[in-house]
Amino acid sequence: MTRRVCLVHYHEIGLKGKNRSTFENQLVTNLHRALRGHGVDAVKRVSGHVLVTFEGRQATEEDAATIAQVPGVARVSLAYLCGLDEAEYCAAAVRALGEFGDFETFKVHARRSATTYGLHTLDIHQLVGGVLCEAFPDKKVKMHDPDATVFVLVVQGSVYVYAASRVGVGGLPVGTAGKVVTLLSSGFDSPVATWMVGRRGAVCVPVHFSGRPMTSDSSEWLCQDIVNALAPAGLIGRLYVVPFGERQREISLAVPQSLRIITYRRVMLAVAERIALLEGAKALVTGESLGQVASQTLDNIAAVNEMVSMPVLRPLIGSDKMEIMRRAEQIGTHDISSQSAEDCCTLFMPRRPETHARIDAVHQAWDSFDHDTMIDELVASVEYVDFDHCPSYRPPACMKSWHRELAPAARDER
Ligand code: ATP
Ligand code: MG
Repeated sequence: MTRRVCLVHYHEIGLKGKNRSTFENQLVTNLHRALRGHGVDAVKRVSGHVLVTFEGRQATEEDAATIAQVPGVARVSLAYLCGLDEAEYCAAAVRALGEFGDFETFKVHARRSATTYGLHTLDIHQLVGGVLCEAFPDKKVKMHDPDATVFVLVVQGSVYVYAASRVGVGGLPVGTAGKVVTLLSSGFDSPVATWMVGRRGAVCVPVHFSGRPMTSDSSEWLCQDIVNALAPAGLIGRLYVVPFGERQREISLAVPQSLRIITYRRVMLAVAERIALLEGAKALVTGESLGQVASQTLDNIAAVNEMVSMPVLRPLIGSDKMEIMRRAEQIGTHDISSQSAEDCCTLFMPRRPETHARIDAVHQAWDSFDHDTMIDELVASVEYVDFDHCPSYRPPACMKSWHRELAPAARDER
């Protein structure tokens, strides 16, 4: 009996040689997690694709939309899964082409990975093509660049038939590229930067600096909403929150107004690197885009960057704001980021921030307060919230007991 299933296509994974099965297995695991609550029957590898079936029901567009958001997925098709019966898969081909939408020209593309099947690909082309010509008499067959292609894939006693595919986010399965710590504000840029590195296979561990107790905790809630909006991508297992308001006040009293932001940023990057070391992360990520705001000139980026020895990835450095906003819409963080919230950035803002910081002035400001103690204390005061979105995320053993008390979830249990 014909069933509707999701057939997942990936291409980059196929290029990974000996690692291929590791990548495929990771994609299977990640799809399972992304589809939690969808009533999945099975997710399994089938001849260069991943097949997803659902318990007692047909796959839907909604399932395909979720799958399309999982890194590593190039395309996903709602395919008809048929037996080897010719009438059955020809009928499925008619339905698949009928559901394609507008088209004038079409062709059939058959592939056989079971050589035990009697019909060869040319036979299948002729058979299915003939049935489709009868069913759509006013449409034309075109072998080169047709509007629609009906794919017929014969694999081990089954035939998969589909015509339309939804484009996926591409990239690589999360968990195949190590771990990064990302500096996450509730603005537009850093959620997009986080997503981009996650799409390349990295497990992302966001750290948010909150203005608490000098501001409310609304930016922390927005960051949690952002993490939840990114759930189908499966990038994030834990969000760290650093209450920074009190320390910012100390900095604002110690350093010249124009150097406040750079000094906050230096502390933030240093704390993030310490968390990265505890997490076993190999790089930091920010949402900086060259020249976008005063703190993102080359001089200022250099003045902040010298705080850390880990690589700092800036996936948006060459992006325009409009591109970033479009991406934010696509990944579902735009509307959350457009809600304004006070965070540490809005606290004690100077009237005229330095745009081209002189490094000796930055060093002088830096030495005017006990930065080492401040960084140690901030690391010790880190709180976290865990999310069940990322199957590859492993929390660091040392943090488990150290910060359990501070985790809001644990706090609620007490
Ligand atoms: P975003 O839209 O990500 O807030 P932005 O355009 O507002 O970026 P800045 O405020 O200069 O730019 O921040 C630059 C980067 O510094 C951010 O992209 C983010 O990576 C990091 N950052 C800024 N504020 C915070 C914060 N409160 N907590 C953690 N990281 C932050
Ligand atoms: Mg910001």
